[in-house]
Amino acid sequence: MIAQDVLQNSSAVINVDLNAIINNYQILSGRSSSADCAAVVKANAYGMGLEHVASAIFHNTKCKIFFVANLKEAVALRSSIKDAIIYVFNGLFPDQIECYLDHNIRPVLNDLSQIKMWQGKAEPCAIHFDTGINRLGLSDQQTEQFLNSETNLNLALILSHLIASDLPDDADNKIQLNKFKKITDALPDVPASLCNSAGIYLGKDYHFNLLRPGIMLYGGNPRALALPQGIKPVFEIMGKILQIRHLETGSSVGYNALWTAKKPSRIALINVGYADGYLKLNDNRGLVFVCDQIVAVIGKVSMDMIAIDITGHEFDKLMPEDEVELIGKNITLEMASEVSTLGHYELLTSVRDRVYRNYKLEADT
Ligand SMILES: *Cc1c(COP(=O)(O)O)cnc(C)c1O
Repeated sequence: MIAQDVLQNSSAVINVDLNAIINNYQILSGRSSSADCAAVVKANAYGMGLEHVASAIFHNTKCKIFFVANLKEAVALRSSIKDAIIYVFNGLFPDQIECYLDHNIRPVLNDLSQIKMWQGKAEPCAIHFDTGINRLGLSDQQTEQFLNSETNLNLALILSHLIASDLPDDADNKIQLNKFKKITDALPDVPASLCNSAGIYLGKDYHFNLLRPGIMLYGGNPRALALPQGIKPVFEIMGKILQIRHLETGSSVGYNALWTAKKPSRIALINVGYADGYLKLNDNRGLVFVCDQIVAVIGKVSMDMIAIDITGHEFDKLMPEDEVELIGKNITLEMASEVSTLGHYELLTSVRDRVYRNYKLEADT
């Protein structure tokens, strides 16, 4: 019997709680009584799986607007949700125009030449005005030029992006807000959007007409402060023990013998490695949770496995196939972030497709 479960259980598993994502959307959208709330689902919904995540949000909340980074993600999203409004942050290349139109996808136009390409079309678009990030968007000079020229666009949204929304006291927030206000004043009839997740918590001056949260939908925390009230963790990543070994004092583990047993030791090999997104920053540093204990990753992270130190009687009952928690209730995102130096954005988006994504979605009762 080749049950689906047998195959799924051969890899590490990420359990994604879609109800928690829906909950987080409600919390974030509830921060504003006037602004609408979109969902940012770029990078495979921050590693959680685009199709399942976007469908859960679309069908269980009032969210109708989604943002992705590129056209490939947009077309994938369109094939699973026919009626969503989909914007693409990364803008427009000339050879993409037809594809945008065919799939009813809206470009975020990032400079005057992209605006020119969309000129005269009835289909909606957005424009990104750069208010300080010096990434995508119209520069000050281009903004000036745009505001002083005649355009023939169906402009459905204008947006800008904050550079320091994770730092509530940073002076750049106010500077960008004031710059963006000048632009929205010049375009009073066009809906405007400034806030990512952390921006939502800067207060209602920042909300305008549309919120654009990403990371907090997925329970990630962009700020050094505690996660806001009501935002729930969304996922856990579980590995499985492949093998248990006894080591003599002086034996080493893994490539380049990065770890050596100082006493007779027992180790377990776990079915997750850097090819699953468990990165080398965890060499001799990572933590996992098993038998109610926090346990150290020892030696180098390999492509397909890690080793953990399970010396001690509390681990006597452990056997191959037993589960260990890599991220979850016990090894929280905060802890995983601290030991690896990776931010929550990186921890989420580094989960690779070899990790089986298992979804929970319970109907409202
Ligand atoms: C990724 C992104 C967002 C979402 O940001 P979070 O910090 O994940 O909430 C919003 N706007 C733009 C332009 C982005 O690139």
